[in-house]
Amino acid sequence: MLVLKNFLIGAIILDIIKRAFEESVKGGILTKTHVESRLFSFYAGGGTLDLAVFPNSLAQLINVANIIKKNSVEFLIIGACSNTLIRDSGYSGISLMTKFLNDICISENFLTALSGTRLQTVISEARRNGLSGIEDLAGIPASIGGAVVMNSGACGTEICQLVEKISFLDLSDLQIKEVLSSDVPFEYRSSNAFFNDKIITSVMFKLKSENQAKISDRINSALARRRNTQPSEPSLGCVFKKINGFSAGCYVEAAGLKGTRIGGAEISVKHANFIINTGNGTASDYIALVEIAENLVQSKFNITLNREILIKGD
Ligand SMILES: Cc1cc2nc3c(=O)[nH]c(=O)nc-3n(C[C@H](O)[C@H](O)[C@H](O)COP(=O)(O)OP(=O)(O)OC[C@H]3O[C@@H](n4cnc5c(N)ncnc54)[C@H](O)[C@@H]3O)c2cc1C
Repeated sequence: MLVLKNFLIGAIILDIIKRAFEESVKGGILTKTHVESRLFSFYAGGGTLDLAVFPNSLAQLINVANIIKKNSVEFLIIGACSNTLIRDSGYSGISLMTKFLNDICISENFLTALSGTRLQTVISEARRNGLSGIEDLAGIPASIGGAVVMNSGACGTEICQLVEKISFLDLSDLQIKEVLSSDVPFEYRSSNAFFNDKIITSVMFKLKSENQAKISDRINSALARRRNTQPSEPSLGCVFKKINGFSAGCYVEAAGLKGTRIGGAEISVKHANFIINTGNGTASDYIALVEIAENLVQSKFNITLNREILIKGD
């Protein structure tokens, strides 16, 4: 009975929100219902988003945030969805998609990108303008907002080392604010929940001038390293964080789990810290493998694995 009541309340709220967004559509905000996350998630699996909203300007973003706040509705920000798995049951709140908040501006050694811009686009534009520093991150399929929230890194470089300042929409008062990177409590693969009630709108990077050929060499070697060590099938990258600087994949491999399959998901034979989609993998298949790895590594080695990937949804 309680479940039915909650379901009905949820449906009524969603209907009110949908109507609010329909009004906004007249103002040009793209909204879509029943969006299948498997069609854009880097894992190529996962549930349906009931209502996805795609603001394409700061004004539209503020408008969306206003509606979310006024209706006290749950929401989820989705960048490139390269680190996020949506449960098979889907997500019934508002999914705020940043993909159309997408632009880059360069002044001297400073490159500023809107939060939905792909990291790869930023790296290419930096190279075109002879700006260096960010090449180690080539091949991470992130949006800039997602990369900052996750403090993405590779080959000893973390994105927080390259960021000068971050602009965000503060949901507590709907004001656009700025924070210096040095004032954000960045940790390994985390910004320590600093951005929980904030939507990153843009990020300013401080880069250094460099010869374009040298930049290209560094990008190419970062990409080659990935090709040699990581699987090419759909995945969300590393499932677990390093343990005291030591790869979590080594424990998963030592537990004998390489190649273990559930449904369409598999612990990669090439890299044990990747769970790949072999074709029709669901979010439940993926989560089942995560749990098997966690339980076996705990019982065999008394090591607790910490998840790098995020699991969201109802
Ligand atoms: C093949 C592959 C290789 C990878 N290699 C690496 C690697 O080498 N190093 C590494 O660190 N990661 C790696 N990853 C993981 C992933 O790419 C990173 O974690 C990336 O930073 C996630 O960015 P995203 O835009 O996809 O974030 P999403 O998965 O869309 O979101 C991640 C989190 O950020 C939040 N978020 C997104 N945008 C905003 C915003 N504008 N404002 C506030 N919150 C926001 C989301 O709500 C969510 O909580 C890899 C993934 C894949 C698939």
